[in-house]
Amino acid sequence: MHDIQASIKAQAKYCEEHEAPHFAPKTGRCWSCNQNIYAPGHHVWKGKSDGRESAGISVEKAGQELVTGCPHCHRSYCD
Ligand SMILES: [Zn+2]
Repeated sequence: MHDIQASIKAQAKYCEEHEAPHFAPKTGRCWSCNQNIYAPGHHVWKGKSDGRESAGISVEKAGQELVTGCPHCHRSYCD
């Protein structure tokens, strides 16, 4: 399931509860590939789409894992 607003909240809550740094973009929009990490998109490699779809981060995953990078272009947010 993908719900951008719910995922943003779920990730913020995860970070708070685990005292983890919030790496994910606050709006969910990746500043590298311009897609939303919490919605399905397309795979981007070295700045170009290769036509494959990528799933995006689900609400469940946003509530269970620390987001450290983009699921579409694999840009790391923690360096
Ligand atoms: Zn990206």
